[in-house]
Amino acid sequence: MTRLLIIGPPGSGKGTQAGQIARHFGVPAVSTGDIFRNNVSRQTELGNQAARYLDGGHFVPDHLTNALVKDRLLDSDALQGFLLDGYPRTAQQSAELDAMLAAQGHALDAVIELQAPDAELEERMHRRALDQGRTDDTIDVFRRRLDLYHRQTHEVVSVYAGRGILVSVNGSGDPGAITGLAIAAVEQFLKAPRSPS
Ligand code: ADP
Repeated sequence: MTRLLIIGPPGSGKGTQAGQIARHFGVPAVSTGDIFRNNVSRQTELGNQAARYLDGGHFVPDHLTNALVKDRLLDSDALQGFLLDGYPRTAQQSAELDAMLAAQGHALDAVIELQAPDAELEERMHRRALDQGRTDDTIDVFRRRLDLYHRQTHEVVSVYAGRGILVSVNGSGDPGAITGLAIAAVEQFLKAPRSPS
């Protein structure tokens, strides 16, 4: 079965792509951002703990995020495969994910990196703020999320590149075309994985 990640900066459209790509591979899309937002709106204990981090554009602490993912990946629909969206975002989270999967005798098959220039991300964020009214889409908070991506999540991308499982996709352009490119790139990779560089 297919165990995938999608990683991309805020505003890169990774949530939209995750849904489409997951459907194609017949696995659930698991978005940590969506799970956190859902808990915040229902005012659960997790939501109340996470709200201030989301609103400020900070990462939710690793121990909360790791526990959430660990639970979710044990749900029956995720045992046969998944597409994780927005996790891991720190080196510590990626080590934790390796351990979770190893405990089940599994490993990641491929990691999709969605690439887009910062200027384009900022423009898209403005539009999303108007359409969806996310409380973390103000300009200052967005810039903090983008900065965190460059400072912390790039390291995660490098880890997977070194392991030879990174599939990078150009995230600029028509969303449907990007989905097609991403699916084709992953399928090609899964047929003939590259050796680690
Ligand atoms: P985006 O990538 O557009 O910033 P997400 O929906 O992936 O949006 O995440 C929204 C927020 O949820 C993040 O800014 C952060 O506060 C929190 N979050 C999501 N995933 C993680 C994670 N893996 N680790 C820590 N915080 C996370």
